[in-house]
Amino acid sequence: EKFPGDESWNPMQRQTPGVLYALVHPIGFPKAELIASNDELLENLGFKLPLSQKDIDVLNSNVDEDFLTYATAYAGHQFGNWAGQLGDGRAIYFGELKDKDNKAWELQWKGAGATPYSRHADGRAVLRSSIREYLMSEAMFHLNIPTTRALSLSLSGEKVMRDILYNGNAAYEPGAVMVRAAESFLRFGHFELLSARDNIEELKNLADWSIERYFPEIKSEGKEKYIEFFNEVKNLSIKMIVEWYRVGFVHGVMNTDNMSILGLSIDYGPYAMLEEYDLKFTSNTTDLPGRRYAFGQQANIALWNLSAFGNALYPLIEDIEPLQEVLESFEDQFWKAFDTMMGEKLGLDKLRETDKVFLHSWQKLMIDLKPDYTLFFVELMKLYNEESELDAKKFCYEEISQEQQERLEDFVELYKMRIASNEISKAESLEKMKRSNPQFILRNYQLFEAIEAAEQGDYTMFNKLNEALKTPYENRFPELQAKRPSWADNQPGCSML
Ligand code: AMP
Ligand code: MG
Ligand code: MG
Repeated sequence: EKFPGDESWNPMQRQTPGVLYALVHPIGFPKAELIASNDELLENLGFKLPLSQKDIDVLNSNVDEDFLTYATAYAGHQFGNWAGQLGDGRAIYFGELKDKDNKAWELQWKGAGATPYSRHADGRAVLRSSIREYLMSEAMFHLNIPTTRALSLSLSGEKVMRDILYNGNAAYEPGAVMVRAAESFLRFGHFELLSARDNIEELKNLADWSIERYFPEIKSEGKEKYIEFFNEVKNLSIKMIVEWYRVGFVHGVMNTDNMSILGLSIDYGPYAMLEEYDLKFTSNTTDLPGRRYAFGQQANIALWNLSAFGNALYPLIEDIEPLQEVLESFEDQFWKAFDTMMGEKLGLDKLRETDKVFLHSWQKLMIDLKPDYTLFFVELMKLYNEESELDAKKFCYEEISQEQQERLEDFVELYKMRIASNEISKAESLEKMKRSNPQFILRNYQLFEAIEAAEQGDYTMFNKLNEALKTPYENRFPELQAKRPSWADNQPGCSML
């Protein structure tokens, strides 16, 4: 295999039948410049701070020829259609490190150059999308949501051509390379690829390896082992989606190649945090008009993706019934976890049978008022704490009608009655709310501002957001915690690159 650095390199996507990876060397960026580093995680992974030039070189993807690095092939269903072989098109694995708890982390460069799996582009990344991934993956971590993480961000020193820009113009953009880390980057799509190729031997090897390494509590043998594995992946996926609903995260491109077998949030591209409550909101401009990946669809899509994953595992089980049982358990399990989560956001002591009605009236109010999802709960915490009133101006983007105001007041009355019947103390109940309701979320317009400035060499806003996201449950940056300003109302969504 020729390396992308070779002059004869032809950046055409390759099929790599029979193997799940290809050795690939990064192109290298001699003029790269580190602009952000995740010191807490770097230290946890054994890096000495301040970083040595040698470590910086590695983070910047400047390594010797004998430094073996690879990209993996996977497959997937994209927007509901089988997409065949895909793979790490701009991600290259370059090693693995153990943290202080002896947990191993895989490391990848993103944007270090083409691989045999690159599609439509050159394997490079732009500063814009790298900033989006760096900040959002770290924001998710600090929100206590399972996620891949960001370790460093560098300017590559190159200009990169991208035909799709957020403002619609074709232009050159600053190139970047970031390092991301995760316990595993294995996706449903890795299993789908082997299964589709009918490579059952390797499919079994991959499943056995994954179970031994990531699910050591599974002790069964034979078919039962793979059924339990499937069930565990379902459990982790449900946990992840419920957490997304807790904070209003809209992923935007939940293809099966973007689903982690560990239930990690992965692939931060066309995501957005929900502002106006809207089940049909999609952050991805390429998801229109279908809205397959809209906010309210995410649980359904996780289930759809799990059925694709179950299909991939079928050859190891050869019995449709136990797979079906796992899938059929999804709905009840999801709603139970969802209601419990929503109960905590609302400060309920525990879920009672009658709370179904209460939660229903809460959702009706959301659909009616379309409040800013985050600020509604921030104000609800104040209402509970200070026994004040709910002021719609604080969380609604448009003025509400008299009827809406009355419905809001009816809800507040219902709410006060419900929390008055809590069997835990007010302090305990407020504690639950504080843990569940972020005060700071990374808003699209803020990312936009950070990116615009960073492209001009000013990292003030980037650094500020990078600081604010570390304490999302506190009120440290009031100026970043208000409603989206009107200038950003009609900001376009995000495309895939
Ligand atoms: P995504 O929608 O981010 O999951 O990307 C879909 C596929 O496109 C992935 O498998 C990537 O390997 C590939 N891809 C995305 N961006 C690039 C890029 N800049 N260069 C090459 N391939 C890419
Ligand atoms: Mg992807
Ligand atoms: Mg992506």
